[in-house]
Order: sequence, then structure tokens, then C-alpha cells
Amino acid sequence: MNKFLLLHFFSILFGCVSCQPSNNTIQNKTLHPKKSMETNYKKTEKEWKQILTPEQFYILREKGTERPGTGEFNQHTEVGFYTCAGCGTELFSNEQKFDSHCGWPSFDGELGGGDRILKVKDFSHGMIRTEIVCANCGGHLGHVFDDGPTQSGLRYCVNSLSLGFKASKSNDSK
Ligand SMILES: [Zn+2]
Repeated sequence: MNKFLLLHFFSILFGCVSCQPSNNTIQNKTLHPKKSMETNYKKTEKEWKQILTPEQFYILREKGTERPGTGEFNQHTEVGFYTCAGCGTELFSNEQKFDSHCGWPSFDGELGGGDRILKVKDFSHGMIRTEIVCANCGGHLGHVFDDGPTQSGLRYCVNSLSLGFKASKSNDSK
């Protein structure tokens, strides 16, 4: 009986950290640098380092995760489009953004017909998650979960560092 309760407790505990990287992310990074996905958008590591900041390189090209609550776009509410910080592809609109209180910018859908963001099974950190990747340049964006509060049921949990932002010019035309 007690054993059962204990198991139940742990399953809840692990459920709560679905978005969180483990504390030894930095260690993993140095021991096993992860490679981002290969696409036709060919750039060498050196070229990427020239156009990305070291933080962006770590997230986009080495599948890092920024600390929750620290990202530039977490509480961002301007009208416009969120782009891939690696290649500029428009990925999300402000209308798809919602506050999930998880510490990362969250969206309930993506722009286009599902062809701009690849979904890849991710077994890292002892969890089974779905990684989201820019289909154009292969940059790591974050993860998508099926516990979203809106009609789509989806929660795209994205690193701010993986994103850029293009404000809509037509803010004044309704
Ligand atoms: Zn991209």
C-alpha cells in the first residue's frame, strides 16, 4: 500500500518537470555535445558561430535549454510574427501565443501547414518528449506537449533564444 503511494508520488513529481532540463545540462553539454538536425540549409559550425550569439548557438545548434523565466519573449505581447533566430522563417504569430506559466514562450499552434516545424521524438533526460525543430535550418526550438489549454490541445514550449520577432506594420489598421 505504502509502496503504491510512493510510486504515485514519484510519477506526479516527474510529470511536473516535463519542461525542465536536469541540473547537469552543462555537464552533458561538455561530455556529449548534441548535434542539431541536418537540413538542406547548409552552414558550417564556424558560419553559425558568426551569425549567432554563444547562447543562441548553444540552444539552436546544441539543443540547449534556457533557464525558465529568463527569456526575452516569455512575457512578450506585441502584435507580429515570431521567427526562427537561425534562418528567419516565420514560425508563430502573436495570436497563437498564450501564457502557460511554465517560464518559456508558449504557443498553441504554428504558422503554415505543419511543414515549418519538424517533430522529433526525444528520449533525453529520462523523458519521452517531442522535440520541435525548424524544418528549414534544423535549429532546435524546444518541445511540443499535448496538454495545451486551448482548443488545439497543443503547447509549443519554445526557447526565447531560438526566436526573433517581426512586429506587424499594420498595427494601426485594426
Ligand atoms: Zn530556422
